[in-house]
Amino acid sequence: MSAGMRVAMPPAHQEFRRRLRAWLADNLPAGGLPDVDTDDGFRAHQAWERTLHDAGYAGISWPVAHGGGGGDLLHEAVFAEEYERARGPVRITRPSLRFLGPTLMRFGSPAQQQRWLVRMLRAEDIWSQGFSEPEAGSDLAGLRTRAELRGEVYVVDGQKTWTTHGRFSDWMFALVRTGAPGGRHRGLTCLAIDLRGPGVTVRPVGQAHGRTGFAEVFLTGVEVPADQRIGGHDEGWAVAMTLLSFERGPDTGGPVRSRQRLAALAGDVAADLPPAQVAAAAGELGTAAARLYAYRAHTARRVAGQWEGEPGGVESSVVKLYSTGLDRDLVELGSELFGDLRLAEGTPEYVDFWHSRAGRIYGGTAEIQRNIVADRILGLPR
Ligand SMILES: Cc1cc2nc3c(=O)[nH]c(=O)nc-3n(C[C@H](O)[C@H](O)[C@H](O)COP(=O)(O)OP(=O)(O)OC[C@H]3O[C@@H](n4cnc5c(N)ncnc54)[C@H](O)[C@@H]3O)c2cc1C
Repeated sequence: MSAGMRVAMPPAHQEFRRRLRAWLADNLPAGGLPDVDTDDGFRAHQAWERTLHDAGYAGISWPVAHGGGGGDLLHEAVFAEEYERARGPVRITRPSLRFLGPTLMRFGSPAQQQRWLVRMLRAEDIWSQGFSEPEAGSDLAGLRTRAELRGEVYVVDGQKTWTTHGRFSDWMFALVRTGAPGGRHRGLTCLAIDLRGPGVTVRPVGQAHGRTGFAEVFLTGVEVPADQRIGGHDEGWAVAMTLLSFERGPDTGGPVRSRQRLAALAGDVAADLPPAQVAAAAGELGTAAARLYAYRAHTARRVAGQWEGEPGGVESSVVKLYSTGLDRDLVELGSELFGDLRLAEGTPEYVDFWHSRAGRIYGGTAEIQRNIVADRILGLPR
C-alpha cells in the first residue's frame, strides 16, 4: 500500500497493525514449515491455519457469524502486508479466503454457509476450484463435464485439471454443464463436490519445479445431492464470473513480495558483482524500482476504490498484467546477472523462477488480460 494510504490509515487500523506485527513476531513457526506439497508439510500448514483462526487472524473481513474477524477491507489489506512482510507460510486456505468463501457468502444458502464456511477458515475442509478442463482453460465456456439432474441428485461425469491442492482437497467448487452440449455460458451450474466420495479419482500432476501441487480430477457417475448446488440450476456462469472477480481482486501482499524480491536482488548485486557490472545492473534495478512504485500505488488505489464501492472490472486485468510482468522480469534479471547457477534444481530461486511464470497463467493468462484491456479500455474490435 502506498505511503499516501498509510497517512490516511485510521488509528484503529494502525493499532491493529501494531498488535498483528507483535503477534506474528511471537508466533510465526521458527524456520518456516515443511514443503506444502508433501503429506507432512500440508498437515503442518493445516495446523498453522487453525492457529491463525484461533488468534482471530483468519478471514479478517469475514463476518463474525461465519467465523471471521468482522473487520473491513483495510484490516484485510493491513493483514496481507504484514503477513508478507513477516514472510508468513503460504496460505493453503487462500482460494477459500479470497474467492470460494466470498462467493458462497453471495450465492450459498444459509444452510450451506453454516455447513462449510467456518470449516473452510479453520482448514478442516480443504477446498479446490474445479473450473479448468483439458479443453477448457481460457475458453471456460467450452467446458464439457456434464451433470444430469435425476430427482434430487446430480450425476456428474467428466474431468477437471490443474486443480491446485487437489491432492489434499475434501471439496471441489466445480463448474459443470447441465444444459445442452455446446451451449457455451448458458446451461452451466456450480456444484460442491465431495472429493472423498465414490466415483472420484484424484491424480497428482508434477509441475515444472518438481513439486506436485496440482492434480487432475476424474469424475465418473459421481452423485451430488441437489442441496450442494451453489446458486441456481443453469445459472452457474454468473456465480463463476463473481468468483473470478474476487480471484482477481487487489492483493496488498503482492507489492510487498515484489519489494522483497527487488531488495534481495539489489543486495546480491551489491555484494557479489564487480563494480563495472553493478553500474550496468543499476539501470535495470532502477527501472524495476519505478515499476514497483507504480504497482504499489495502483494496488492502493484499487483498495481505496473497493472501499468506496467501485466495481473492480478491467482494473484487475491491468494490475495482474503489471504485477506478474514485474515479478517475471525481476526473476529473469536475476538469472541474467548471475547465470544459470542460481537456478539449480531445488533452490528457492528455482521454485521462484517457475512461480513467476505461473503468475502469467492462472486466474486468466496474460494474453486474455490483454484482450480484456484491448476490448474494454481501448475499444478495439474483437
Ligand atoms: C499455478 C496454477 C494454478 C492453477 N489452479 C487452478 C485451479 O485450482 N483450478 C482451475 O480450475 N484451474 C487452475 N489453473 C488453470 C488456469 O486457470 C488455466 O491454466 C488458464 O486459464 C489457461 O488455460 P489453459 O492452461 O487451458 O491454456 P489455454 O487456454 O489452452 O491457452 C494456451 C495459450 O493460448 C493463449 N490463448 C488462449 N486463448 C486466447 C485468446 N482468445 N487470445 C489470445 N491468446 C489466447 C493463452 O494465453 C495461452 O498462452 C491453474 C493454473 C496455474 C498455472
